[in-house]
Amino acid sequence: MSIISNSLNRIKPSPTIAVSQKARELKAAGKDVIGLGAGEPDFDTPNNIKNAAIKAIRAGDTKYTAVDGTPALKNAIIKKFKKENNLKYSLDEITVGTGGKQVLYNAFMATLNKGDEVIIPAPFWVSYPDMVLLAGGKPKIVKCSEAENFKLTPSKLKKVISKKTKWLILNSPSNPTGVSYSKNEIKKLSKVLIKHKKIYILSDDIYEHISYDKSKYFTIAQISNLKNRTLTMNGVSKSYAMTGWRIGYAGGPKEIIKAIRKVQSQSTSNPSSVSQAAAVEALNGNQKFIKIRSKEFKKRRDFVVNSLNNIKGISCLKPNGAFYVFPSCKKLLGNKTKLKTDTEFVKKLLEKTNVAVVQGSAFGLPGYFRISYATSMKKLKKAMIRIKSFCESIS
Ligand code: PLP
Repeated sequence: MSIISNSLNRIKPSPTIAVSQKARELKAAGKDVIGLGAGEPDFDTPNNIKNAAIKAIRAGDTKYTAVDGTPALKNAIIKKFKKENNLKYSLDEITVGTGGKQVLYNAFMATLNKGDEVIIPAPFWVSYPDMVLLAGGKPKIVKCSEAENFKLTPSKLKKVISKKTKWLILNSPSNPTGVSYSKNEIKKLSKVLIKHKKIYILSDDIYEHISYDKSKYFTIAQISNLKNRTLTMNGVSKSYAMTGWRIGYAGGPKEIIKAIRKVQSQSTSNPSSVSQAAAVEALNGNQKFIKIRSKEFKKRRDFVVNSLNNIKGISCLKPNGAFYVFPSCKKLLGNKTKLKTDTEFVKKLLEKTNVAVVQGSAFGLPGYFRISYATSMKKLKKAMIRIKSFCESIS
């Protein structure tokens, strides 16, 4: 009998973390690696946020806090939801965890029974299906094609709903595609959801602020009849370049928030007291840099999309958010190139050019790969030259 549990055997380690690890190893071995696999901004955490953390340490803010967040941070989150999303929450409708990742994990642990289904539109963020599996649930993957802009349509949603559906996950802007749902598209999905009163919605809004859309951001809890069954997850990792601080949060129905607290109280307890103090400053402090950084990301997106579309065999949609693009490499797979899958494509690309990207199949949609452009223009330029010459050399 194995010492490792059956539930752990159901899942695999995160493939995106595996790519970053591989790139780090090659770098350590002296290779000139360009890592386009990581899901974190290359910018530094702004100084006002760092200073708030230093101040908190000096003030002795170094003890246990309330399990699911300090009142100061919860109040800052309430203010954020009201101001930016027009959502009204009370203190007992807010939870804070060690990253958005923990909030999501706890939500599934707190709500899923064996066999409960979670609808996950593909391509998806790699952790959703495995978290669901760990919690004993069943991921119901719905493939959303490039022709559909990689987005879930109301008719596909209708078809996949069953008596066992407990959650639908929506992620906008999306990791790995960068596409986001318009207000109108969310409204259309909500028309289906309103009829199915037992289904809850998990809205992963972690890339909210990295958006180049001119229209105002819209999240599904803003549909009044759905707020009472939506958990709106967000965090400071991406918007405030705070991936290492590990603070994520959610607003949602009291019953779920309380259950999440229970899971957290018997696992990690509170997120770091110092990081919470930093997150208060992130949310309450000056927000100007968000627009400046978004502008820089937009410039990089334009450059990367144009460069990719100039490579024979590669085609790439122009998404309007996050810091990812999801180009197709389908035309470069087959007998001619001797590369059968997207996984072989990215492996060869790394071997031959030292450029690290992640295969689309890791996100549930083979034939594509994900590029994170959260890296300097200088590196992106170099990477695009290498990708182009690699693609030419194999075709
Ligand atoms: N959701 C999505 C779609 C993500 O891409 C990530 C991080 O990569 C997270 C959630 C979790 O972010 P964190 O745990 O750093 O808050």
